[in-house]
Amino acid sequence: MQQQKSTAGQFVRLIRFLILLFCLVAPATAQDKPLTVITRVLPPFVIEEASSYTGFSIELWKAIASEIGRSSEFKAKANVKELLAAVEAGEGELGIAAISITSERLGKFDFSQPMFESGLQILVPEDADAGLGLRQVLNIFTTGAMPTILAILAALVLIPAHLAWFAERQRQDRLFSRQYFRGISHAIWWATGASAGQQPDAPRSLMGRVLAWLAIPVSVIFVAYFTAAVTAAITVQQLQGNISGTGDLPGQRVGTTTGSTAAGWLIEHNITPTEFQAIAEAFAALERHQLDAVVFDAPVLLYYAGHAGLGKAQVVGPIFRKENYGIAFPIGSELRKPVNSALLKLRENGTFDVLYARWFGQGG
Ligand code: GLU
Repeated sequence: MQQQKSTAGQFVRLIRFLILLFCLVAPATAQDKPLTVITRVLPPFVIEEASSYTGFSIELWKAIASEIGRSSEFKAKANVKELLAAVEAGEGELGIAAISITSERLGKFDFSQPMFESGLQILVPEDADAGLGLRQVLNIFTTGAMPTILAILAALVLIPAHLAWFAERQRQDRLFSRQYFRGISHAIWWATGASAGQQPDAPRSLMGRVLAWLAIPVSVIFVAYFTAAVTAAITVQQLQGNISGTGDLPGQRVGTTTGSTAAGWLIEHNITPTEFQAIAEAFAALERHQLDAVVFDAPVLLYYAGHAGLGKAQVVGPIFRKENYGIAFPIGSELRKPVNSALLKLRENGTFDVLYARWFGQGG
C-alpha cells in the first residue's frame, strides 16, 4: 500500500516537473526561433548580394533585431503588393523594404514609427531631347514674355495700319481703299510687310511716308528682339525636355512598379502606367526609350540617377507627394512595441544617422 502511494507521488512529481520544464523552455524556444522578415529588392533600401541582402532597410532591421535580441531570416517577394500579401497571410512576422505608410494600408496592417521620409518624384532620360512638337511650340508662344511680345507685334501692325489708312483715305491717289474693311486689310498687309523689314508700295500721303520710314528702324530692332526671344524659348524648352513636372505626364509613356503608391497616384490622375515587378526593369525601359518617364520613390530615383543611371537619367521637378516608410506587421502584432522602442533608441544613439550617411551621404 505504502509502496503504491509513493509510486503515485513520484509520478505526480514527474508530471509537475515536466510541466514546469515546458513552461520554462517553451517561451525560450519561441524567442529563439528566427523571425521571418518579408522584403523585396529595391536598391538602396534592399540590395541582393550573392546569398544575402544588404541595403539601408536591411541594415536598419539587423540593428533593430540585435537591439530586441532576435535572430531573423529574410524572404524576398517580387513586388510590394506580394510583400504585403505575405505579411497579411502570416508568412512572416513583419515586412520591411521601402513600404509607404498609407491610410489604406493602415486598415490591414500595423505600422512601426516612420523609419524614412520619402515621396514621389519623376525620372526622365538625360538626353530627353524635347524635339519641337505642336505642344512645345504652343508652349513657347503662350508662356513667359511671349504673349506680351505678340501683343506688341500686333500693336506695331494695327496702329500704323490705321494711321496710314486714315491719312491715305482723303487722297485721290490713295494706296488703300476708302472702305474700312477692304482698306484696313490692305493697310494691315502693308504694315505687316513694313514691320517685317520689307518695303512694299509707298503710301502717297506725308503721314503714310513718315510711317513707312519709321518702320525701317523699328522693324530692324523688333525683328532682332523677336528672333532672340524665340531662340531663347526654344533653348529653354530643349534643356527642360518634354517633362518637367506632373502636369506634363498625361499622354506620356510612364513606368513604375506593380502595386506601388506611385502606380496608385498615376491611376488616380488618369495616367495608365506600365507596371514592372522590379524598378530596375523600369529604368532599363527608360534607357531603351520605351518609356518617357518613371514615377517612383524619390530616394530610389536619386540613388539610380547618381549610380547606375549616371549620365543616362535625371530627376526632374519637386517631390509631389510626401510619404513615410514604415515596418509592416500583421494587425495586433506584439513585436510592434519593442521594434518601435528599438527604432527610437537607434535614432537617439546615432546608429540611424550612421546608416543614413552610409547609404545616402551625410545628414540624417
Ligand atoms: N514606397 C512604395 C510603396 O510602398 C514602394 C513600392 C515598391 O516597393 O515597388 O508602394
